[in-house]
Amino acid sequence: MSDSQSPGNYALTYPGRGLAVLAAHWPTPPADLPQFCSCGNLDCPSPARHPIGTLNAADATRDPGQLARWWLAHPTANVATFTDESHIGVLELYHPAKPEHVMRLLNAHRAGQGPVIYAGQGRVLFLVKPIQPQPDHEPARSYSSDDGEVTCLASESMVLLPPSRLMDGERLRWMRRLNHTTRLPDAAPLLALLTELLESGTLEDIQALMAM
Ligand SMILES: [Zn+2]
Repeated sequence: MSDSQSPGNYALTYPGRGLAVLAAHWPTPPADLPQFCSCGNLDCPSPARHPIGTLNAADATRDPGQLARWWLAHPTANVATFTDESHIGVLELYHPAKPEHVMRLLNAHRAGQGPVIYAGQGRVLFLVKPIQPQPDHEPARSYSSDDGEVTCLASESMVLLPPSRLMDGERLRWMRRLNHTTRLPDAAPLLALLTELLESGTLEDIQALMAM
């Protein structure tokens, strides 16, 4: 990984794109197996997926000084942000289809140009404008089939960002880059499309097709 892709340098690019971030625990030791969560708890319930120390959603910041301090102290820390009610939402897709195939399918359906994160095996995250609660009914927030699931994460969910590392050594990466959070697509049409792709078995079909 080049220096410009170090977690600290990467973290410093997020405020300019509208994201407040904070430092999260990471798999350690960096190169060897077995890996443990850097919090030191061998039974950590969410290894490499929780903020450092007592930090919480309210500590996520766009202040470059604070970000520099965190990553100077912890150069390999993961980078995390939080969903909220008005600006940042995330649709999480779990499906065994290759993420490249998912993207091709979405492009074929002209499904927006919103940012997409590859988040480890079977998991793809779509950054969206949050679903607004309706006074008369609660909009759908998830759909699951036998093969996969799509969920709109609740407000204040922690979300790892590239180049965070998972416990299996994989790194998160952008499949479609984030320009700015002010230009995120609406959640509802994308959720409807992903639901339809799961419901109709299209994702499953493409997976079978590509495996031949
Ligand atoms: Zn931990």
